[in-house]
Amino acid sequence: MRPDVIVVGGGVMGCSVAYRLAKNDVRVLVLEKSVPGAEASSAAAGILGPSVELFRDAFALQLGRRSRELHAHLSDELDELLGIDVGFRRCGVIKLAFDEADRVEIDAQASALEANGVRCDRWTREELLAEEPSCNPETHGALHVAEDAQVEPKTLLSAVALGAEREGAVFRTGSAVRNIILDGRQARGVKLDGEVIEADRVVVAAGSWTTLIPGIRLDANAIYPVRGQMLATRTRPPIFRRIVFGAGGYVVTRPDGQVLCGSTEEHVGFARGTTFGGMAQVIQTATRIAPALENAAVRGHWSSFRPGTPDGLPLVGETHVERLLLASGHFRNGILLAPLTAELIAEAIVGEPPSREAKALSPRRFEETS
Ligand SMILES: Cc1cc2nc3c(=O)[nH]c(=O)nc-3n(C[C@H](O)[C@H](O)[C@H](O)COP(=O)(O)OP(=O)(O)OC[C@H]3O[C@@H](n4cnc5c(N)ncnc54)[C@H](O)[C@@H]3O)c2cc1C
Repeated sequence: MRPDVIVVGGGVMGCSVAYRLAKNDVRVLVLEKSVPGAEASSAAAGILGPSVELFRDAFALQLGRRSRELHAHLSDELDELLGIDVGFRRCGVIKLAFDEADRVEIDAQASALEANGVRCDRWTREELLAEEPSCNPETHGALHVAEDAQVEPKTLLSAVALGAEREGAVFRTGSAVRNIILDGRQARGVKLDGEVIEADRVVVAAGSWTTLIPGIRLDANAIYPVRGQMLATRTRPPIFRRIVFGAGGYVVTRPDGQVLCGSTEEHVGFARGTTFGGMAQVIQTATRIAPALENAAVRGHWSSFRPGTPDGLPLVGETHVERLLLASGHFRNGILLAPLTAELIAEAIVGEPPSREAKALSPRRFEETS
């Protein structure tokens, strides 16, 4: 059957868009060159932390907070629909200050958050250690925000993909889209190896690979890969209750004691893998946050590519090419922003007048117009 919408890419963005559209009775076909979740979405730590990641920009902060709340609903919905717990937990986040300059910085961050309606606490070293005894005792206090959360990205991804299928979306794995087929200034479908598939609309959610697909007419630098390396261990009991940021990285603890330590930000094109230098940086950061991790066993390490953009905001919505939409470029916050992105794409497809968010995230700000 001819799909209404083709979604290119089966990461968290493609799966979330497919789920959201299929729920609205749109016939969706997801084309994934590998398998759903093959790339950045499975590598992520699952931090839903706008108060640390997005506090510098009041608009982005509110986008992140709104999407974090959509996650809370989505998690209940997926549990009800499929019986899958995606690990949404409002665990809160902490940001450590290791010297006086850090302390001034977190104080300014707290003021910026409070000015935007976010409740936060400024903890002394003693208060911090009473709450999280495994934190480095040599800190100058910490910022605590209770409203931020975490999710288990791999479980979320498979639940959203299953949910989309349950609602009627069709997934095709091993299907690399070679180009967008254009009819004048309109997208008519996509071309795979030896096959053409037509649809009313095409949504490209190909993460760091988005600008590589011919026909998109997007400046090549509008979305670029930023490699991030991660390392996993496990502690018993779980080392922290909250997500802890500091020393340029973070430590995320799951309730079962799994610990994820991240991460680097490297501009190395699509070079895959973990490196000695990257791992050294991650280990140094993690053990500065929690000295006890020095004795922890390495349980795994991996890397993937965050889709970065020049202005730090994603590209979501309609492009200059009619019937061609993008859901891409979410950099460090793609897990966080997936439900909001899916909502904006659904609104664009039913033809609702663009909201303030939709206008600000419009891909047209980077497109080649010729
Ligand atoms: C180490 C690391 C830690 C992170 N931690 C967090 C975090 O804690 N919280 C958070 O919110 N975000 C985090 N992120 C960011 C987040 O992972 C990304 O922003 C998000 O996963 C991007 O999702 P996506 O679906 O756009 O891209 P991807 O997950 O990369 O998916 C794109 C998909 O498109 C497919 N594809 C590409 N080209 C084609 C084609 N031509 N045809 C068909 N399919 C194609 C790929 O195979 C891939 O499956 C992290 C990222 C990294 C690397």
